Amino acid sequence: MAMVSELPKSAGEFLASLISEGVAKGVMALRRLPQKGRVAYSLVTHPEEALECDPLFPAMPANGGKVVSRLTLRGAVDRPIAVMMRPCEIRALIELVKLEQAHLENLILIGVVCGGVFPNRGFQAEGNVEKLVEGYWSALEKGYQPKGVRPVCAACESFVPQGVDLVWTQKAPGKGCLEALTEKGEEIIGKLGLSSTQDDLASWKESLKEKRLKEREELITKTKESAQGIENLVAIFGKCIGCHACSHVCPICYCKDCFFESATFEYEPASYQRRLEKKGTLRVPMDTILFHLGRMTHMATSCVGCGMCEDSCPTRIPVAQVFKTVGADLQELFEYLPGRSLQEPLPLTTYREDEFHQIEE
Ligand code: SF4
Ligand code: SF4
Ligand code: SF4
Repeated sequence: MAMVSELPKSAGEFLASLISEGVAKGVMALRRLPQKGRVAYSLVTHPEEALECDPLFPAMPANGGKVVSRLTLRGAVDRPIAVMMRPCEIRALIELVKLEQAHLENLILIGVVCGGVFPNRGFQAEGNVEKLVEGYWSALEKGYQPKGVRPVCAACESFVPQGVDLVWTQKAPGKGCLEALTEKGEEIIGKLGLSSTQDDLASWKESLKEKRLKEREELITKTKESAQGIENLVAIFGKCIGCHACSHVCPICYCKDCFFESATFEYEPASYQRRLEKKGTLRVPMDTILFHLGRMTHMATSCVGCGMCEDSCPTRIPVAQVFKTVGADLQELFEYLPGRSLQEPLPLTTYREDEFHQIEE
């Protein structure tokens, strides 16, 4: 049975108390930078420093799942560290654990019910970040979807964390609850002496989910219309300059030696010549569509729809919307939601004799 308590004063104070009360040796969360409106993931071990943490700040400079993978790739942390992140970041982390790219031991997982994040580019250029953030919380408090967030956030139905120790639900600063989903979470609430409450904000979350599901349907329908078929894909990715930023920021694209950056794609002059003889013209860089199709087949079943790829694309290709759409169909086929559970095997590593017989017919 989940234990629900009132929210501590702020997420920063809560994280600081985890260190000062000896629950965790450190915390990993978004932390405010000296430049106004900027945050970065930080690992903090001093309570005073943890006060500067702001895990609900509506920005995602990097997918936190990828950040935790960097910290734990070579082995688990040897002391308790509290990690506070958004649901798509936690889901990415779970996928990375299954891909043997991260370790969960000794981590206290705290997920936040997520109102979405603003695109990095627009947000950083925005003069009045405070006003934007104020409007964000004011919309959420009224149960509306904040305007201007990443398109995949407005269409994100998995905004309530699962499989974590604690869930932080906040509909406005200071208004919300903290819920324990595991014994470890219950112990933490007990140790911090937080007072209990009856209100788990279920109806607020439900109404937000309804809006998100409607947006999701619209996004998928619109993307299918514009991207289905090879000709449409060529049109969408025609602007691609082959920088591979989308894969470098993607939490699921973890390969150190990416096939698409390998010597396979370093052609001999004769190869260019042969292609020129056939077609009379060459688009350079070549293989951009192949790169996206390859990426899709490698990781669309694990795409958590975080939007990092789209946010990082210099030519503003709606990469995440395409991957979310392709991922939605594939994930439904495999009845798989990436990061939902550590126990669910990755579809691409699982062979079942009794599936997809319709393809043989
Ligand atoms: S996709 Fe956006 S709304 Fe969904 S959990 Fe991630 S940041 Fe939050
Ligand atoms: S493909 Fe894009 S949306 Fe999907 S997990 Fe990677 S960065 Fe996130
Ligand atoms: S970030 Fe954009 S331009 Fe760069 S490879 Fe990806 S889709 Fe192409």
